[in-house]
Formats: sequence, C-alpha cells, structure tokens
Amino acid sequence: MKFPFRLALLAVFSTGQALAADPQLPVAPLKEVAGLVKAENLKADIEKLVSFGTRHTLSSATDSKRGIGASRAWAKGEFEAISKQCGGCLTIMAPTDTVSGNRIPQPVEIVNVLAVQKGTTDPKRVVIISGHIDSRVTDVMDADHDAPGANDDGSGTAAVIEAARALSHKKFAATIVYAVLTGEEQGLYGGKLLAKTAQEQGWQVEAQLNNDIIGNVEGLNGKVDRDHFRLFSEGTRANETEAEIKRRRLTGGEIDSPSRNLARLVAELTGAVFPDFHAKMIYRADRFGRGGDQAPLQEVGFPAIRITEGAENYHRQHQDLRTENGIKYGDIADGVDIPYLTRMTQVNVVALADMAWAPAPPPEVKIDGAVSDDTTLIWNDTLGAAGYWARWRPTDQPAWESQRYVGDHQIVLKDWVIDDWAFGVAAVSPEGYVSPTTFAAAR
Ligand SMILES: [Zn+2]
Repeated sequence: MKFPFRLALLAVFSTGQALAADPQLPVAPLKEVAGLVKAENLKADIEKLVSFGTRHTLSSATDSKRGIGASRAWAKGEFEAISKQCGGCLTIMAPTDTVSGNRIPQPVEIVNVLAVQKGTTDPKRVVIISGHIDSRVTDVMDADHDAPGANDDGSGTAAVIEAARALSHKKFAATIVYAVLTGEEQGLYGGKLLAKTAQEQGWQVEAQLNNDIIGNVEGLNGKVDRDHFRLFSEGTRANETEAEIKRRRLTGGEIDSPSRNLARLVAELTGAVFPDFHAKMIYRADRFGRGGDQAPLQEVGFPAIRITEGAENYHRQHQDLRTENGIKYGDIADGVDIPYLTRMTQVNVVALADMAWAPAPPPEVKIDGAVSDDTTLIWNDTLGAAGYWARWRPTDQPAWESQRYVGDHQIVLKDWVIDDWAFGVAAVSPEGYVSPTTFAAAR
C-alpha cells in the first residue's frame, strides 16, 4: 500500500489550535446501555453455574444435571432464550475440537458456546467478550469433587451472558461475539479454539475482552477494594516479524501494541462513563506464572486483553472446599460481590457498544517528519468514519495526552517534532464513538 505525500493538500494545524467541531464522546447512550445490565440476572447466573457441582473439563459431558456438559447446555439455552427476545438476532455456534495434553490424558471434546450478533454495516469486523465456564479445585485433574467456580470463572461467564441480554436489543455496525469458553484450566483450549474459529470465519477481530475472575472485592489481607479493576495487556504484539522488531528497537512502540491501545480505550471509556470506578493499566500480558484465554488470540495477532478484579483472593481460587485453621477455602458464590460484578459487566458493555458503534481503527498509520519541525501522519480511511483523532503524548508517558480532530485521512502537526512524541490515530463515528488508537509506526 502506497501513501503518497502530497504536502500541499494536507490539512495543516498549528500547535495548540483546536477545531470548533470537535466531536464529544456520547456518554449518555453509553450510560443507557450500562443501565441495561441487571444485578439480579448476574446473581441468578452465578447460582445456576454453581449448581452444576463441577464444571471441570473432564467431568461428565452427558449428565443432565452435573458437570461440564450440563453447564454448556445451559449457556446455550440462555443464548437461545435471549435470541428469541430479539427476533432471532443471535446466531448460536458450538465449535468443537478434540484435544489432549499434559492436563488431558485421554482425548476429550472441547466445546465453546458462541452467540454472534451480526453487525449491520461492517459485519466482518468483530468485537468479542469472553469468559470460561470450566472450573477446578486444588488438583487440576480432579473432575469429581465439587468445583463451584463462582468467581473463576462463573463471574466472567455470567458477564458474557448478561452482556448479550443487555446489547441484543440494539443494532451495531460491527459484529459482537459473546463467547463462553471451555478447557481454560486444562491449557487454554477454549481460547485456542476461539482463535481458530475466528480465523476460519474470516473475522477481523478488533478486540477480545477476556473476563476471568472479575467478581471478588476482598484481598487475602482482608482489604476491600470496590473501586478498581485491572487491565492486563501485552506491550508488544506476540506475532511481530523480525523486521518489525528491528524497526521498533529504533523508533519505539514497546508499550503500544494494539492490545495495549485497546486497554487504553477501555480505561478511557471507564473514566468517561464511571468517574468513580478506576481501571489500573497493568503493563503485563497476565499475572506472574498464570495465563488466560486472551493469550491464544494475541498469538495470532488479534488485539486482546485480560480484564480482572483489583484484589484477588487465593483462598477462593482453585481450592478444595474446606475449612482449615478457621479459614474457609473454595470458590463459592458468597465470594462474588454482585454490585462489583455488575459494574465490571457494565464496563464491558460500554466498551463493546462504543467499539461496535465506532468505525474500525485505521489498520496502519504512517508517520514522517525526520529532520523537520513538523510531524505528518497518513492513514487509509476506514468504513463509517466521520473523522479521526490524531493523538500524541510524550514517549515516556502511559496515556494519550493530546489530540486533534481531523476530517481528512492525513494531518501535518506543525511544530510537533517527530522524535519527541508517540503518535497515533483513532477513528470516530458521526455520533462521536471512538475506536482504539493505532500507534503510528515508522516506515
Ligand atoms: Zn480463570
């Protein structure tokens, strides 16, 4: 793709100049969709998920009441019921794979349960919310004992299903996929299968919001934190080419992968819509020694983040149900704070709605301006964009600090020296919905 420089035709703005027509993020409709999330549904779903006894990947696939099979059938039934309410707006898929590995000695069938809400104008573009329905106790191979998995990851699964209830009555430009994944605890098999499904379907995945452990507010030390959550994102893209790595070494981008800029958007939207709820940006792909279903999507180049609670309680994760020295162990429903889970689900719904209403981010932004006083950004128009935010910040700062609206697909930032700032471009819909920002990389 060629990006001809026709400087005479470029819009030129001087430092500090703002356009009168700058679009504003439409906070009111985003608050309205957040308001569609119902705490009582989340509570009922957590209790239902716990009622399957165990949802271990190696538990019964055929028992109608207990085990992974019954829980998957319930999730599918919920999606079907939601679809009925919106005139068949969801297509339910149940892709499968037969897998084995360290934690799966005999081949077993993995089944994801997906509900697809097709976009109206840009259906190949896909935003995904995911959680994993499988659970475990202390011994990862124990498929028999009760493994309620209320928080890990009943909370994420409930958020996925409730997001479908909330958003299915609205129409969006892009497709939204609600993904209930399995096989996470045995080796991220559901995430791998989701990546495969996305590739087979030709989905242009703009975002995966992977919700894993999102409902606890009390840390091991007893401190309660209802005001924060964490966004884990990789710093650099897992599938960078050698040439891209070389270029990044010279001109930067270590904290600007598409996943990181997706996390930045989720943090910005949270700040705009829920001023009393705060995203902590964690500059790591995941917690130490632990993983999640965002990793397989990152590995094939899709922007993906892990959304998780602010303070984890390890007595309530991956534990046999028991009381020892006065301490209660186990991932029971009491460990899920429903108001907090409701807010976490609302954050997801807001981010999905914004991105599905917004245009796609520019796939690529070219930057030029070496040995000059000005910086030039050039990108291709994206479908449905009314304009773009050119954004920048000092190279050592974490969040976009400055932005300028441009109705064109190029801009010369006069008197902004290319060497001293990190630049990017986000696409904006006519209503003001904003895409994630694409980092401007050198040629
Ligand atoms: Zn988990």
